[in-house]
Amino acid sequence: MNILSTTDTHGWLAGHLLDENYSADYGDFADFVRKMKAKADSLGVDLILTDSGDLHDGTGFGDATTPNGKLTLPIFDQLPYDLLSIGNHELYTTEIANDTYTNFAPRWGGRYLTGNVDIYDNGVRKPFSQRYAYWQTKMGVRIMAFGFLFNFTGNSNATVVTPVGTAVQQAWFQQQVSRTDIDLFVVAGHIPVRAQTEWNLVYAAIRQHHPTTPISILGGHAHVRDSVAFDANAMALAAGRYCETVGWVTIDGLPSNVTRATSPMGSGTIKITKPSSVPNVTNQINSSSLSWSRQYLDFNRPTFEKHTASLNQGFNTSYGQGISGNITSEISTLPILTNLLGCAPASYYLNRYPISDNRSLFYYLTNTVFPGVVYATGRNTSAYPRIILTNTGGFRYDVLAGRFTIDNAYQTNPYTNLWQYMTVPWSYAQSLLTNMQTDKVYKRQVSTSNGTVYNSTTGTWLTTGYLTTDDFGAAGDGDNTLHINQGSASTPHYVQANVSTSNITNPSTMVDVYVTSFFAAAAAAYLPGNMTNAWINVTNSTGGSFSSFDTLPAYAQRFWSKNC
Ligand SMILES: [Zn+2]
Repeated sequence: MNILSTTDTHGWLAGHLLDENYSADYGDFADFVRKMKAKADSLGVDLILTDSGDLHDGTGFGDATTPNGKLTLPIFDQLPYDLLSIGNHELYTTEIANDTYTNFAPRWGGRYLTGNVDIYDNGVRKPFSQRYAYWQTKMGVRIMAFGFLFNFTGNSNATVVTPVGTAVQQAWFQQQVSRTDIDLFVVAGHIPVRAQTEWNLVYAAIRQHHPTTPISILGGHAHVRDSVAFDANAMALAAGRYCETVGWVTIDGLPSNVTRATSPMGSGTIKITKPSSVPNVTNQINSSSLSWSRQYLDFNRPTFEKHTASLNQGFNTSYGQGISGNITSEISTLPILTNLLGCAPASYYLNRYPISDNRSLFYYLTNTVFPGVVYATGRNTSAYPRIILTNTGGFRYDVLAGRFTIDNAYQTNPYTNLWQYMTVPWSYAQSLLTNMQTDKVYKRQVSTSNGTVYNSTTGTWLTTGYLTTDDFGAAGDGDNTLHINQGSASTPHYVQANVSTSNITNPSTMVDVYVTSFFAAAAAAYLPGNMTNAWINVTNSTGGSFSSFDTLPAYAQRFWSKNC
């Protein structure tokens, strides 16, 4: 059994235009999947394709339309997915939830699984989509599939997310899980695979009835490559984010009364003998006839070609080229996506480097971008000392050297929280950042990569990229392409620009404090009188609102070269 898996695509279906590692688009991927399915057929093995949710929010291609996803979802729909689960980014707004419910979920012939999500359909609470799917593969394997979302609470009131621990006690789950005609459980879920209560509960609920039946979990949400061993017959894989990674799992050794397939490629590379401990589960099996393998494939054409070359069919087919052509023509219907705002003079990374390093995006924002464009009309002179704070969790991706468009702006920071300011004594302003760092923790992502480096020891060109450590191997063992470690640095929850404050000696000197509406209330709590309504909106040059999303485009238009 072979499983190809994507997760957290967030609209990146056009590929990463400025990063070779992840330069394939969904047309290239579609070609790859169809060829891998043909290869599986010719070898006499099974191959299924899964996705674990979060199709929205992350690129202009996905987000600059109404409804959100209008251009990207028809592209995604053309892939032959066998199993899908819903992500939290399908549920933040009622508009996207309704579009997913009405138009997207029904396209998958009962394979879009939402075991713990309901929706109000004209006021009537109904399952969002199917709860489970059961089918027999080409090679005869009887699969029971489930789909779950983590215990998400930020959904709009159009939907209801039932805690996973409650869902697995419900009659529909108990009825299905207690069946005896199951050879393999495949569970897709928008849940991080490592140390996450929700997966432990699903695993334990299955093991209550099936002490040894194989379980393959395809997770998501954490935006990392990872794999976890639950027991000798159960493992979980997460396939990263943003169309950077295709996850690949194989299960070998299913008995001949379960599958007609044999293993022409040899057995899997992993025998699980030391499962991670799962709370409240005793007797986790630690020996089995099964062997597993897992790989994280970079999302680029050379990688896809490497695995399909044995078919001798070349890479391009009208199928994949047709999808790539659709992507190009649909992007061209939204000229704002391709109009040049400016040329980023260098690459600024989200969290590959510490914020004190001038290659860090946050260094660039606080030293250059915010001082350059974040100020109320007329208040950008030294007569108005400023501090400008941002939360770092709103930033989702690097700014890479070269063309910068609205599409890139969505990739970097899609949030439209308004810039606001109030004027307070320095005695308050100077300690605001320190106070805010102790406040609420926001979700952050790991770093990404680009660039190539010559390795004189091996004589090969290596790309800088992910070097993944998981339950099955040390750094790089599961990465299908060898990478030089791109590194990662932790980022504080807030960062701050200081403008014209260095000479302040008197604590009663008045200073303009800039924040965004996202955390304005939290910041006000540390300022005189906790006056949440004292914030004044910053306006742009035409008197309109000025948001976090507008910040980099405003800087690019005013200060970056137009010649890339
Ligand atoms: Zn995500």
